[in-house]
Formats: sequence, structure tokens, C-alpha cells
Amino acid sequence: MSYGPVFVPSRRPAATERWRGSRCDEVVLPAVRDALWEFTREVHNLEPGPAKLSGLNDTREAEAKIGMLGTDTAPLCLVLRAHLPGPPAARKHWREDLGTQGVRPQAAQVTGIDQVDPDQVAPLLTEPPSQHVRPWLILRSPAGFAAGALSVDPGDGLPRRVIDFAVLHLNRPGAAGERPPRCPHCNQPRVRRYAAFDLCPDCGWFAT
Ligand SMILES: [Zn+2]
Repeated sequence: MSYGPVFVPSRRPAATERWRGSRCDEVVLPAVRDALWEFTREVHNLEPGPAKLSGLNDTREAEAKIGMLGTDTAPLCLVLRAHLPGPPAARKHWREDLGTQGVRPQAAQVTGIDQVDPDQVAPLLTEPPSQHVRPWLILRSPAGFAAGALSVDPGDGLPRRVIDFAVLHLNRPGAAGERPPRCPHCNQPRVRRYAAFDLCPDCGWFAT
């Protein structure tokens, strides 16, 4: 399977500048990491336990932060690509789509929601969130598919998509053939070969 990020961030000078200077762990704060890992744990039936975040392109002033979230024992890791939010989708309130709680056998999409402090989502957004409401994190993943997205509703009911993620198995044979000398998605020459996959630390492209 090959996965190429499809999101192109809008260019806003101040936000772009702030992003370029930030590390992955400064953008993806603990409450957001916990929500991502909790969602992964529930979807993939993993043991409880906190996950650690490693930034993969922290020194390169990138507009997208690529990070890996995992534990010492989990058979999976989560690769995330945090990017500047696009304009919010001007649609009906996202909560109208939610339906009832619990996992339905025919569900096309798995959704997880969480409420966090405004400070925990501020670095993900281009405008400061209101300090008077607790923002929502909305995690969505097509059922049976190991990739998804995290959006933030800072309080106005409109989700901003800020992180794309994919869940990769660590205990399967890795990509076949040679490690690509350049990333097929962004053309940077830094594709890394891990035991179970190849991963580009610049854009988050991977091959298993
Ligand atoms: Zn790349």
C-alpha cells in the first residue's frame, strides 16, 4: 500500500513562519497525542499505555510536521502529518453526522471525539481559539482502513482538518526492492527504511 498526502496547505505568512520554526512536539501537544493514540488503541484493540512522539523533520523548518507515535511494545505505530488548517468546511454542524454511540457493523466511518483545553489546540490553528469554550477534537477514519484525519472545532462548530495519520504495522515484512533514492511524492532524498516500511520524513509518504 502506498499513501501520499493530498492536502495542500493555504499560505498565510505569519502562520507559515510560526510553523516553520516549530518542532513536531510543539505543534502536537500532549492532549492531541493522547487523543490520537487512544483512537488507535480502540480501533486496533491495543493494550493501554502512553505513547511517545518522535518528530522526524524537526530541524528542517517544514510546513508539515511528520511525527511517529508509538510505545515500546505495541505492534503498531501511528505516522502523523500535521499541516496548516485549510478554511473550515462551511457545512452543517459536524455533530449532526455522528449518529449514536458505539460501533455499528455496517459503519463506513469510525469517529472519535474528545474535548480538550484551548491551549492544547492553539499551535495547530492559525487563529487563537476562544478561551471560553473547550475545543473538540474530531478523529475520523474509514472503517477497515488504517488512515484517517484529526480536525479541531475551536468552538464555532466548524472542523479544521489539521492532522492526517496512518497506522502502520511493525511486525510485517517491509517494502520490497531497494529503498527509493528519492521520495516519489516530494522528491527529497531522505526516504528511511524501517523494518516494516519505507517512510519519507519530509512529507510522510510511506510504502509497506
Ligand atoms: Zn516525501
